[in-house]
Amino acid sequence: MYQCPTCHESTISGWQKWGAHTTHPARCSSCSSLSFVPTVTSSGILSASVALIAFVGIFIGVPLHSPTPVLLAIIGALFFYIWRWHVAVLLPTNSELVASARRSNRLLNLLVLLGILAE
Ligand SMILES: [Zn+2]
Repeated sequence: MYQCPTCHESTISGWQKWGAHTTHPARCSSCSSLSFVPTVTSSGILSASVALIAFVGIFIGVPLHSPTPVLLAIIGALFFYIWRWHVAVLLPTNSELVASARRSNRLLNLLVLLGILAE
């Protein structure tokens, strides 16, 4: 369990933390406050994990003609991913900020959809 950034009780489960986004924050079962992991952190964790696998595959696996470096990189990336989520900081938020983030997210999704349809 992870500490709520507001009341500092250990009430946030690992699954709640992993899914705590600005648009869908985790709710503390003790004080009912909302918290999230910043998008830059969650995106960075995934990007760094994928980059590790890709770089090892391209620069080590391909020259050696062996899948072993990539398999080791996948295992390393998995440990990195879990460790970074474990140490990621939860930030407090409130219902107004969540509503604002959801509006922004809907607008972004609409713009992406329009971009796809314009192709
Ligand atoms: Zn709390």
